[in-house]
Amino acid sequence: MSPTDPPTDQNLLTVRGLQKSFGANRVLTSIDLTVARGQVLALIGPSGSGKTTVLRCLNGLEVADGGRIEIVGADAAATAIDFDAATAAGKPVPRKALGALRDQSAMVFQHYNLFPHKTVLENVMEGPVIVQRRPRAEVEAEALQLLTRVGLIDKKDSYPFELSGGQQQRVGIVRALALRPALLLFDEPTSALDPELVGDVLRLIKELAAEGWTMVIVTHELEFAREVASEVAFVDGGTIVEHGDPRQMLRNPQHERTRQFLHRLL
Ligand code: ADP
Repeated sequence: MSPTDPPTDQNLLTVRGLQKSFGANRVLTSIDLTVARGQVLALIGPSGSGKTTVLRCLNGLEVADGGRIEIVGADAAATAIDFDAATAAGKPVPRKALGALRDQSAMVFQHYNLFPHKTVLENVMEGPVIVQRRPRAEVEAEALQLLTRVGLIDKKDSYPFELSGGQQQRVGIVRALALRPALLLFDEPTSALDPELVGDVLRLIKELAAEGWTMVIVTHELEFAREVASEVAFVDGGTIVEHGDPRQMLRNPQHERTRQFLHRLL
């Protein structure tokens, strides 16, 4: 279940000067972040500040306009894209490079985004079999093991609409794990859930953190961020205003904008 190599001090993810605009809307002005192998970064900040866009750029779902992303996978090979170079050359980022970046991470979405017409097992197997072209029997064995682990083996032939939101999100997490990514990305994984279903999902994410998975988590759950994150970063206006140890930063923020944001939430 856990990433194959033990956590080291090496940075698994390095982002420098990441920029992204949608038309005239400059959403990411300049994002810098690093996440060491086995560490968990929580991104917090007001709605519309660019947190989801950061995750989507990391996962190649959006193409950044500037800056650099580097992910060092389990085999120690670096996948990097220099978006400045592509923009300066006036050329689109090659699809192959984006595909290589996408292969390094897996995203867990706020609204689960399961395929509605596929069963739970088919949802989990789709990426590894179709995209990664791994042997079906091996993928199925691993998928069944993962579903057992999260208590959903008896739902393997069910369709998403037959599951609660919490169960769907646990399938979403299993689907991400089945891709064996270097990096797990969570986009507000509990914000669509009824309050009584939040606990199970947060517990599972905490277990994965304890096992050494490297993660970036966008969350409004400050208590959860405090417990699970090695570092928390406050995003506002498309940049990281402040980052640090969760216990220190959430209790004693240095910037006025962070203080105002936390004050509204606590
Ligand atoms: P957050 O996750 O912090 O709430 P987002 O990254 O979702 O913020 O959004 C930041 C800004 O980018 C918002 O103004 C949003 O409307 C805009 N935005 C995000 N995605 C798109 C898109 N695909 N097209 C146009 N604008 C977008």
